[in-house]
Amino acid sequence: MSTVPARYEAVIGLEVHAQLLTKTKQFCSCPTTFGAEPNTAVCPVCLGLPGALPVLNREAVAMGVRTALALDCRVNERSVFARKNYFYPDLPKGYQISQFDLPFSEHGKLEIPDGAGGAKTVGITRIHFEEDAGKNLHGVTEAAGRSVVDLNRAGTPLIEIVGEPDLRSADDAVAYLKRLREILVALEVNDGNLEEGSFRCDVNISVRPTGSTQFGTRVEVKNVNSFRNVHKAIEHEIARLSGLADAGETFKQHTRQWDDEGQRTVFLRIKEGSDDYRYFPEPDLPPLILDRPWVDALAKTVPELPDARRRRLTSALGLTAYDAEVLTAHPKIGDFFESVLAAHPSDPAWAKRAANFVMTEVLAEAQAHGLTVTFPVTPRQIVEVLDLVTAGTISGKQAKELYGFIKGSSASPTEVAKEKGMAQVSDAAVLEQLCQKVVDENPKQAQAYRGGKTGTIGFFVGQVMKLTQGSANPALVNDLLKKVLG
Ligand SMILES: [Zn+2]
Repeated sequence: MSTVPARYEAVIGLEVHAQLLTKTKQFCSCPTTFGAEPNTAVCPVCLGLPGALPVLNREAVAMGVRTALALDCRVNERSVFARKNYFYPDLPKGYQISQFDLPFSEHGKLEIPDGAGGAKTVGITRIHFEEDAGKNLHGVTEAAGRSVVDLNRAGTPLIEIVGEPDLRSADDAVAYLKRLREILVALEVNDGNLEEGSFRCDVNISVRPTGSTQFGTRVEVKNVNSFRNVHKAIEHEIARLSGLADAGETFKQHTRQWDDEGQRTVFLRIKEGSDDYRYFPEPDLPPLILDRPWVDALAKTVPELPDARRRRLTSALGLTAYDAEVLTAHPKIGDFFESVLAAHPSDPAWAKRAANFVMTEVLAEAQAHGLTVTFPVTPRQIVEVLDLVTAGTISGKQAKELYGFIKGSSASPTEVAKEKGMAQVSDAAVLEQLCQKVVDENPKQAQAYRGGKTGTIGFFVGQVMKLTQGSANPALVNDLLKKVLG
């Protein structure tokens, strides 16, 4: 749903800052661990003391290159670091080391769902390396009433992924961010956490008369910290900018901020042009040269990406697009599911049963945090439960009960099923008596069945299952009912 009046079209481009999951900072060997005592993970380099020289982190470069390759970007053999000058209290150097006219990577693309069952391609303009600033803390601890600066985060490696203005709605933007985030998480280069700011997004947005190919004046909305707020901020801006256009009002390009309490964007500052940053090549770092063999070796470490995984699950195993989406929402969920799948590979019936069970039971209690997901059981236990169903030892309903007993433990489902006396009633003589009873008690339905309404068999199966509290073997009951009903 979009609130764009048909006479206007929104033009949206996103800039994403992603924190790389390296052990150490971008230009020094300080650890990137968070939650440490303020100003304990610092050194002369990240404090910006005079005379301290930066040394580039090879692990960060490798992570950036793998991201570029996953996003179909060209990796430039030679790129240059540049100083981006700011004055902020949490940036003691007075500049950030970034890349400007020669980034390490350009011209990529990302496929996103178009909301109508198809896909659309969004261009990636460039990816470049950056470093994070520190953090200003206001009125905390013994500094009540004052502001203090924690520089533990200063120098943390970032990549900035600049997207082309190919997005046309809030839905597009959220779809793009979700696809981008799942790729970074699958590559294990970023933990995808918007709330904690390790995956941050600035939204550039303008509106123009529908059919026009020129860009309107744009605004930038800074650091929106959830997918929901990105959606709301864009809808809000589209409505606001369309209103201004209707009224014939013009404005200067500027930066805004999402105000969660007021559910609106508010003016922050007039946007700096790149001239204001006084970019110049970083004199303390040589150009970054990425030789081809190293890049080719990194290409081999790019795992199967979520889109490819979804295609494999739907086309080779017949899962629905929805199931594939849920089961690949996190790479560790996909890995869990595939471990269950591996017990009977290339069996679509098994895939369907495993998908249903993992989605309805296991995922309800799986806890995702960053790159890790904690599951209440192991894939091995799920395989055992489902094998018991396939073998006819327990019913589908009993499988759920059994799962309730084993979750959170390392117990063997087979042992527990025995202990609890769970067994599907597969004794034909016992079941046939029950079938006869149910048919006798429901003459109307029996008549309907005999008159050709064979669908009523479901009713009888249900009655027998009820009598046995779900422990009857449903396939056997079905056969016996057909016999009894003649
Ligand atoms: Zn340092």
